[in-house]
Amino acid sequence: MTIVKSEVTTYQLYINGDWVNPISNDYFDVVSPATGEVIAKAAHGDEQDTKLAIDAAATAFPEWSRKTSKERADILTRLHQLMIENADELAKKISEEMGKPIMQARGEVMNAADYVLWNAEEGKRIYGEIIPAATPDKRLQVIRHAVGPVAAITPWNFPLGMVARKVAPALAAGCTVVLKPAEQTPGSAILFFRLAEEAGIPKGVINLVTGTPDKIGDVLLTDKRIRKVTFTGSTNVGKTLLKKAAEQVKRVSMELGGHAPFIVFEDADLEHATEQLARNKFLNCGQTCISANRIYVQASIKDQFLSMLKEKVEKLQVGYGLDVTTQVGPLVSAAGLKKVEDQVKEAVAKGAQVVTGGTKPDLKGYEEGFFYQPTILADVNESMRIANEETFGPIAPIYTFETEEEVIAKANDTDFGLAAYCFTTNLSRSIRVSESLEYGMVGLNDIVLAQVEGPFGGVKESGMGREGGPDGLADFLEKKFISTVY
Ligand code: NAD
Repeated sequence: MTIVKSEVTTYQLYINGDWVNPISNDYFDVVSPATGEVIAKAAHGDEQDTKLAIDAAATAFPEWSRKTSKERADILTRLHQLMIENADELAKKISEEMGKPIMQARGEVMNAADYVLWNAEEGKRIYGEIIPAATPDKRLQVIRHAVGPVAAITPWNFPLGMVARKVAPALAAGCTVVLKPAEQTPGSAILFFRLAEEAGIPKGVINLVTGTPDKIGDVLLTDKRIRKVTFTGSTNVGKTLLKKAAEQVKRVSMELGGHAPFIVFEDADLEHATEQLARNKFLNCGQTCISANRIYVQASIKDQFLSMLKEKVEKLQVGYGLDVTTQVGPLVSAAGLKKVEDQVKEAVAKGAQVVTGGTKPDLKGYEEGFFYQPTILADVNESMRIANEETFGPIAPIYTFETEEEVIAKANDTDFGLAAYCFTTNLSRSIRVSESLEYGMVGLNDIVLAQVEGPFGGVKESGMGREGGPDGLADFLEKKFISTVY
């Protein structure tokens, strides 16, 4: 394993087409989760910087929103091309800042680039409607237009993907943007903005502020010129932002936390189910909102399932993200690691069995990193903390069930409703179960739910609004009804 020292970079703010120092002239540390070392200093923006960013977005809005969709599409298509050309640099930045294995970081870059291209194309199809009127002297039309300047707030787990999923449809719709990326991972968002500048996005159309989240958030939420807030992050922060947005009836899109059930019936193809589970659960070290968080296995196949899963999980290579052989990197922070350790300790004290893992790995040179061994827990039950909250870490808790009705009731017994998975080869059952699950997305013998063509999002306390597909663009558009007498 190679131990690589990263260079310390300094990140500025991007306001009105310029890279600027924060008014405070203060910078905060960005830390490598693999080594604990400081790898960058990021601008500590505050209320005044945020206000300047909103000034720029509001000033740029009329001209950007009046451009033809082809003009906007041409710029976004150039941005897509630049992302592909700079994929290695973008992926390296993601991996350094949040620990993601480099091959997965590359996948994130390609997926982010896909969102940019897809929205560039879809922006050309912002059609209106003519509605047949009840009287012959009337023309009834519906036109669609950009909602206005948008505030986008993104998390660290897909630091580029989440930015692209918001900024691309916003720009294609004709909105301008103030982005606040997560403090842990500003680097890939900053590189994306540099590429956007090179692609020809005019000054003021996109702006980026980093700093203290609630201070920046308060300005974004209380300034009347911001007409929409698009947020991805935890349900708790989402609720706080929703309350503030309600004061001005701002439009909102909320992509919040999950608690995904992964159901495996005795008629499933177990080789496929265990292979897909090992990929889904340990992707991004389990720090994915659609990561399987409760794995329900029919009691009759429990032993066979555990032994097949264990074999696959024990082959996973844990290590430094920039090593190409790494499949599982560190957690993003000490707090993330502690949550995982606490959940495992509590579950074991209440009777759960560690099938594999359950400790920190022994990685020479990375003793300060936030690593945890990929872990399987058996005999988990609903009295344990892990059964009731999002883990966001590399722990696969296994529950058993007897009947279809029982497992559907258990899967739905949560305030979350983002993603659910069902593995079965019985056609009738697959229809019954997928239609009974109270979730925004269901993977049926499939784990890939973030696809550029499809609507990604949740129900219940997992959020509102969709990203991807035509719905993702529609979230940045208003409808206007025009009734004309002629
Ligand atoms: P978080 O809610 O702590 O932070 C998300 C973003 O909100 C960050 O940029 C943070 O700085 C900012 N923020 C925090 N407090 C704020 C405030 N008071 N005002 C304004 N901004 C504020 O979440 P996180 O830990 O970065 O991300 C993990 C969470 O995100 C998980 O719960 C995960 O399920 C969820 N997530 C959901 C999706 C989805 O599409 N549904 C995707 C990825 C992550």
